[in-house]
Amino acid sequence: MPGWDLDSERIVTNVAQWGYDPARIHWLFLIHAHADHAGGAAALAAMTGCRVIGAAADAALIAAGDEELLSLRAAKRNGTYPVDYRFRTHADVAAAVDGEIFVVGDVSVQAIHVPGHTPGSTCYWWKPTVSDRCSAGTQCSTAASSA
Ligand SMILES: [Zn+2]
Repeated sequence: MPGWDLDSERIVTNVAQWGYDPARIHWLFLIHAHADHAGGAAALAAMTGCRVIGAAADAALIAAGDEELLSLRAAKRNGTYPVDYRFRTHADVAAAVDGEIFVVGDVSVQAIHVPGHTPGSTCYWWKPTVSDRCSAGTQCSTAASSA
């Protein structure tokens, strides 16, 4: 989750402080277009060169940055976002097809469209591609990436 772009540099700094090279971030999977989830996508892509993935319906919202369609006007009115916040658009979101599988190292990531919260809301099902390395959940990602 790239956040709303107020913390993008901190995210990259934290990744480096944890001992990982931010330049090795190759993928950014967006679950939906709202600013608290996609607002930092452009900045993170610029800082790391990562490929941004999301459903086509939300990719269009992220590219356009329309505050009404992104629910930003209402969020600013209710104090969720600062009134001077500006969504940074990103025109290069690769549209994930429902069921599409991305292979990320030893993990496969399947996009599962779940429209509702936004037209392009998407879940991702992470699975190890090497079945004998781990059993389930986030331990699989850790085990697969450290192997
Ligand atoms: Zn949302």
